[in-house]
Amino acid sequence: MTLQKGKIDIKTEDIFPIIKKFLYSDHEIFLRELISNATDATSKLKTLASMGKFTGDLGDLTIHVEVDKKKKTITIRDRGIGMTEDEVKKYINQIAFSSAEEFVKKFKTKSEAEQNNIIGHFGLGFYSSFMVSDLVEIKTKTYKKGGSTKAVRWECDGSPNYSLEEIEKNDRGTEVILHIDDENKEFLEDYKINELLNKYCKFLPVPIQFGTEKIQEPIEGKKDKDGNQETKEVEKPKIINNTNPLWKKKPTEVTDEDYKKFYRELYPYSFEEPLFHIHLNVDYPFNLTGILYFPKVKKDYEMQRNKIQLYSNQVFVTDSVEGIVPDFLTLLHGVIDSPDIPLNVSRSYLQSDGNVKKISNYITRKVADKLDELFKKDREAFEKKWDDIKIFIEYGMISEEKFYEKAEKFALLKNVEGKYFTLDEYQKHIEKTQKNKDKKLIYLYATNKEDQYSYIETATERGYDVLIMDGVLDNHFINSLEQKLKDSTFARVDSNTIDKIIEKDDEAPSKLDDKQKETLKEVIERSINKEKFNVIFENLSETDMPVTITQNEFMRRMKDMEKVGGGGGMMMGMGSLPESFELIVNTNNPLITKVMDEKEADKQDAIVKQLYDLARLAKNLLVGKELNDFVKRNVSEI
Ligand code: ADP
Repeated sequence: MTLQKGKIDIKTEDIFPIIKKFLYSDHEIFLRELISNATDATSKLKTLASMGKFTGDLGDLTIHVEVDKKKKTITIRDRGIGMTEDEVKKYINQIAFSSAEEFVKKFKTKSEAEQNNIIGHFGLGFYSSFMVSDLVEIKTKTYKKGGSTKAVRWECDGSPNYSLEEIEKNDRGTEVILHIDDENKEFLEDYKINELLNKYCKFLPVPIQFGTEKIQEPIEGKKDKDGNQETKEVEKPKIINNTNPLWKKKPTEVTDEDYKKFYRELYPYSFEEPLFHIHLNVDYPFNLTGILYFPKVKKDYEMQRNKIQLYSNQVFVTDSVEGIVPDFLTLLHGVIDSPDIPLNVSRSYLQSDGNVKKISNYITRKVADKLDELFKKDREAFEKKWDDIKIFIEYGMISEEKFYEKAEKFALLKNVEGKYFTLDEYQKHIEKTQKNKDKKLIYLYATNKEDQYSYIETATERGYDVLIMDGVLDNHFINSLEQKLKDSTFARVDSNTIDKIIEKDDEAPSKLDDKQKETLKEVIERSINKEKFNVIFENLSETDMPVTITQNEFMRRMKDMEKVGGGGGMMMGMGSLPESFELIVNTNNPLITKVMDEKEADKQDAIVKQLYDLARLAKNLLVGKELNDFVKRNVSEI
């Protein structure tokens, strides 16, 4: 065969410039695409051999990556099935080209956001090499024998023109040589190639060699005087990947230590050990393997999000699994490997894809089953982990109906004494004592044990139980529990006086008549900041505090939601919500009677001010100058 020249049958005129320019952001994926092709070609040969269709010697199947800085080339060399001349024409000139063309066409019509979504995924294939090269050569020799199976060399300079010629090549397989253009010189740096191989090829099933490493090798027959084996440093070709990653193994063959070790392999910069793991393994109706880890969640949990790595047949695709796993599971870490997840599509397509939905349901179910198993097997250990895992479980219960149905059996509530209850257990625990007169069950809770100390104490003195709900998602979790649990409502201990929260009987009679109350209101309002507090009279017992500050449950929740941005559009344009504190005055407390009996306005004001400041102190509302004034005033009176 003499040198042939030809023109690739091109439909989109500007395809090469587009490949170069428009796909700029993800140039690096060229390496993944080419190594994937080399891996496929190698796997195909292994399959042929196992079927008896290839009877030659497989030999060493390692894929080699080489960088020649002087020649400005990157070479990817495999010993896979190779291609005949006809196959190069068919696969490279036609099929690969038209699929790249198809991809680019689709790509051009997408919005920028969607482009960013799909570009990191598969689609462009072999032609992605033109993102970084001004000339690409392929030297290939098929595994087949006889006929026209001579080795060939193909070359294309990023125009539709290619050339093809017969060459001498001894070894079976394919060598792709990229002549890197000036704009992409960074890919000629070893560290860059190492970085990319680490990102995309760390778990490919065929060994990939790049560069060398220094290792200590025993020197045969040489021992030092203490009888220790002597070693020498030798430089060996470095295999960058682990061809048999843990998720591909049978769970029964893997130890706990292996799982922990693998976690460190996945996240070398994480110092925390995972809490536990789930090994995923299905082949029907879709194919999926993987390992999910429950990490120890930190306060700024957003930082830990999106750490799950998605692989397709051991090739890294992305670490953004939004739309593939339910949102609450994006807090988990680990690996999901599935060739059944469509990759070169947009997010909105992913979300509506039937297979993806099934996968997402499967993962949700597996996670719920694992938690259920842990709960049943060792409740004590489960309780110990609860504070760390509750964020996942609450998030799941809030956002996934199916998960709620399973989790309601093992989700726990913790009270201020640190005791844990399931939802059912807790209901039974408070059923007798915490029902109000409308037969509603009242779940009392505190969000901060220190800040709400006096309110918690008042409630526990009455024999009530108080839950601690101080997690980041507890606000939302409470809302969703209220919708699920029948005739139940949640009230923070300081949302009203405790006797109003769990109102049992009609109010006790007041020592003050309406006219006296009118006068009292005037006295109080001239001594306090009226704008901030709504004065309410209640006829509590004589031993209850004279003045207490409470915060309306509903308004406080709205305000809290506003803080975490959970109010969404509803809150927009409304400005900030006002604080809504209530000043509860116990008309039956002797100190209030004292205010009423006092004839001098100055003295009345002084008592009211003192009671008001004490109430604010108990609610952590007395700060800064006012706190300082309060302290000075009291010191001077000692
Ligand atoms: P894809 O890998 O998605 O099929 P590509 O454009 O990457 O698309 O490659 C097109 C075809 O070229 C492959 O399907 C394969 O038949 C052939 N090919 C590419 N690289 C190699 C290789 N290293 N060895 C053998 N065949 C290859």
